[in-house]
Amino acid sequence: MKKQTIRTIDFSGKKVLLRVDFNVPINEFGVVANDKRIKEELPTINYMLAKGASIIIISHLGRPEGKVVKKYSLIPCAKRLADLLHHDVKFASDCVGPVANKMVQNLKPGEILMLENLRFQPEEENDDENFAKKLASYADIYVNDAFGVCHRKHASIHAVAKYLPNAIGFLIEKEVKNISQVLNNPDKPFIAILGGAKVSDKLGVISSLIEKCDAILIGGAMAYTFLKAQGYNVGKSKVETDLIETAKDILNKANKKGVKIVLPVDNVYTNNIKTKKIVKTSKTQEIPDKMIGVDIGKKTLKLFKQEIKKAKTILWNGPLGIFEEKMFSKGTYKVAKMVSKNKGFTVVGGGDSASAIINMGFENKISHVSTGGGASLKMFEGKVLPGIDAISNEGEEKKKKTVSKVSKTKETSKETSKEKKTNKTVSKSKK
Ligand code: AMP
Repeated sequence: MKKQTIRTIDFSGKKVLLRVDFNVPINEFGVVANDKRIKEELPTINYMLAKGASIIIISHLGRPEGKVVKKYSLIPCAKRLADLLHHDVKFASDCVGPVANKMVQNLKPGEILMLENLRFQPEEENDDENFAKKLASYADIYVNDAFGVCHRKHASIHAVAKYLPNAIGFLIEKEVKNISQVLNNPDKPFIAILGGAKVSDKLGVISSLIEKCDAILIGGAMAYTFLKAQGYNVGKSKVETDLIETAKDILNKANKKGVKIVLPVDNVYTNNIKTKKIVKTSKTQEIPDKMIGVDIGKKTLKLFKQEIKKAKTILWNGPLGIFEEKMFSKGTYKVAKMVSKNKGFTVVGGGDSASAIINMGFENKISHVSTGGGASLKMFEGKVLPGIDAISNEGEEKKKKTVSKVSKTKETSKETSKEKKTNKTVSKSKK
């Protein structure tokens, strides 16, 4: 079912509550270190501004667990957004308190206000109705463009949609279109490349992809549970022993369906991930006792290359080794290069595999690099995302529960002089 998009909404003179996912890395100088998620939001913001809206931006950052934690402030994101947009962004030092109330009330058409981190309030992650109502009271329309959190049933993603006319923004529209194309209409051969730390996180995805793919290439720590299931010694590599039987079932199922599962045939291993005193490559699948598998080897890369070259559709999620350590990153970066050379339809799930692609400057050679790791995994699993499900279907607005607007709330008048001082405007850079 198609969801209501922002294309047919009249934004003139309206206040929009825009949920974005600006959960981005912030470096030690308090500056945004990777702004992909912010850049991806510009089309939606520019479009709504051009249509006469004022925009109240809400997001989370990190895991402050319901408390105010300074390092998780959204101020660096507001600054980066102002620079990218060449537009002032006002900033409220709370999200449902008196400062936000006052600033929302004074917001004029064409202005942008960002509220402080939603997860400073425990109600956000509890999908709290009153918290959602309070957020809804700020605006006339709710727009969800936070693809990276759509798999979460949180108040600003899920409950809030009940209280306002709503739509998805351009980013969610793009994510859903591209991921659905891979899942529903892939050109064959269709291969998936799966890596990362845990089989348990990706069991659902593997089961779903066996029904659709011609081949699944497995690397990362995940591979060792499968190698163990095949009877190989994998030393001290990360293995989920409780999933060895499940791994055997998956291999049998794939075999029956004629889906090729490509596992590592050689592995880079070490005695210690930190000291790296010994770093060698095994000649076979077997990893010596006391050694830890940390990357795929050259022979495995050759096998992967054959499959990647033939593929017309590729889905990649998860690094093929401990790619954060330079010595163990070759497999992931070589696969990133191979995928970027493929001329078919290529989709890279968010998280680490997306970082690898972006770090190498290959982003524009990939058909779609998702902004959401967990959310894209849930879609690959064939699951409905609560954040998208909550939005009205196209042309069929769900009946909204009523909330009184912020101008009628009492807190506004209680604003103290101390709180007034925390209102900020983040200016665009002078160009
Ligand atoms: P995930 O979030 O499941 O995609 O896992 C990503 C993490 O998997 C990264 O932090 C990698 O360092 C880790 N990883 C990949 N390969 C291995 C490996 N062989 N052993 C331990 N961790 C790994």
